[in-house]
Amino acid sequence: MPAPRIEIELDKLAYNASKLTALYDTKGVCVTAVTKGVCGSPRIASALLDSGIHSFGDSRIANIQKMRQAGLDAQFTLIRSPMPSEIERVVEFADVSLNTEISVIRLLARQAVKRGKIQRIILMIELGDLREGILPSDVEPMVAEVMSLRGVKLIGIGTNLACFGGVRPTEENMQALSAIVGNLQRKFGINFEVVSGGNSANYQWFVSTSDVGLVNHLRIGEAILLGCDTLTRERIPDLYTDAFTLVAEVIELKTKPSQPYGEIAQDAFGRVPVFENRGNIERAILAIGRQDVDGLTIYPRIKADILGISSDHLILDVSGLGLEVGAEVQFDIGYSTLLRVMMSSYVEKVYLPRSHLMAQGPSPC
Ligand SMILES: *Cc1c(COP(=O)(O)O)cnc(C)c1O
Repeated sequence: MPAPRIEIELDKLAYNASKLTALYDTKGVCVTAVTKGVCGSPRIASALLDSGIHSFGDSRIANIQKMRQAGLDAQFTLIRSPMPSEIERVVEFADVSLNTEISVIRLLARQAVKRGKIQRIILMIELGDLREGILPSDVEPMVAEVMSLRGVKLIGIGTNLACFGGVRPTEENMQALSAIVGNLQRKFGINFEVVSGGNSANYQWFVSTSDVGLVNHLRIGEAILLGCDTLTRERIPDLYTDAFTLVAEVIELKTKPSQPYGEIAQDAFGRVPVFENRGNIERAILAIGRQDVDGLTIYPRIKADILGISSDHLILDVSGLGLEVGAEVQFDIGYSTLLRVMMSSYVEKVYLPRSHLMAQGPSPC
């Protein structure tokens, strides 16, 4: 098989999705699967669709276009505020968009009227993470104007935490969201279809709260893809964390010193590297680099230490492991590496065939 490659076990992803939708359903919360971590892969979306997910979100309209054109029968939400320059494509390909700017919503409305369509709108509220969001004090006039526009339908209110500022979803901020929604519903005499409380980072809040308030929706990416709670990066019970396996090939294997010799200046990325002295070690070079992976979130499945990474070379201490040139090494990966791997045209994407049996679930660890 070609290397480097990412092996994708669709059964495990489908399993994670069905476990999470069942969990969130216990308190009346439905799930939109977020596909931006896998560049909107239609193969992955289709496996999730089979597992019972009917709503997908992505931050890139190009990914939504790709999934639509692959014929996936689902609802698509653009989860990043639309660029004014992409309004036509948003109205064409996304059913719903998350919005924070009235000028953008006016453009969506005008475009939707022109095409005889309705763009469904979720307004995002700022609750402290300081990425996208309307300040709570500004939301009422915005709701009033959006409700008055033809071509758009205000279907809900949402918020996003733990992405930029690292702010944890808690009882307090989730109740604050419900309070804002409750006030708006009373004031405008409406009932929102969607109250979208957040992303994978809402897991701990969800399992510990006795009252989800008005929250009835979450947008979940990483927990489905990597099976972990994004606040701690710990495994969510009973989910697979190894649906993705990165594989790279050894192209040099030599016993060399553990410290560079000669005069030391900057490395390829402008840093002055420092290496611990471990004496002579077996050093393997793998044919994969920063063009393909994020050097920070790859974890060898063998007992090898990562010594460093340049654009096209990954260097490991493989002392005592008996590797050979041409051997393959497998890695677990984190979210930032998953993103980079899926974007790299140098990494082959290998979808492992789905077995007819639904995956039985991971062994407890
Ligand atoms: C990326 C993103 C999500 C999904 O986040 P995960 O941590 O992958 O669950 C949800 N909502 C918005 C607005 C996002 O940008």
